[in-house]
Amino acid sequence: MIITADYHTHTNYSHGKGTPEENVLAAIEKGLRRIAISEHAGAHLFYGVRGNRLARLRREVDALARRYANEIEVLMGLECNLMAAGKCDAPLPGCADIPCGADLAPFDVLLLGYHKGVWPEDAATRGAFRESFGLGHANPVKVAEALLETANRYHIGMLSHPCEYVQADIPTLARGAAELGVLLEINASHVSLSPAQLREAASYGAKFVIGSDAHTPSRVGTFERAIRAAEEAQVAHLVVNAEGFLT
Ligand SMILES: [Zn+2]
Ligand SMILES: [Zn+2]
Repeated sequence: MIITADYHTHTNYSHGKGTPEENVLAAIEKGLRRIAISEHAGAHLFYGVRGNRLARLRREVDALARRYANEIEVLMGLECNLMAAGKCDAPLPGCADIPCGADLAPFDVLLLGYHKGVWPEDAATRGAFRESFGLGHANPVKVAEALLETANRYHIGMLSHPCEYVQADIPTLARGAAELGVLLEINASHVSLSPAQLREAASYGAKFVIGSDAHTPSRVGTFERAIRAAEEAQVAHLVVNAEGFLT
């Protein structure tokens, strides 16, 4: 399986090591057709890119898109954080209470994931917060519903590393994701779904996207672990950024 696009890469704007341009050059080197710079969004207490820095990143990515237009498609992404059921830090008009960068929209790709470094604002995310630190268990159905409600409201394209840090109920998540047209990521840095979970998700109609979650340029376009997981689970034909699937 050949993956043609990497929608999940980080840079030194957050806790990554390289510049956006180094990620783009690495992607060209690997022969990718598309790359997104998809930094952590503003609600992440430690890595969130917000305010002027996010605006600067937006300008930098737009400039790279123009500079390398003949070689690769460069997209502005954002990896958003689940804050509560129906709430994340993606840009949404009228959400002035969070550092969402609404004036910087539209983003080309929005990812949504649960991360530890985000203050939980409701019962579902408080449960997730406890589970992520090994202090208890969240209700996996509520976690799945929280992700889906949020994905729907903010027009999220893909859920990053589902079931990393906190388990989500796969039938609920996969059925909802299929209905909404939201992709489930098979994350090559930390494969968060087991082969059994991937197969189960596929049986409920889910489709998948493979992302590197690179935090250094050398990891951009590095997908081996995710490819192996997809092949082992026999869901490779459902990976939308594999060659033959991408339009
Ligand atoms: Zn993440
Ligand atoms: Zn990430």
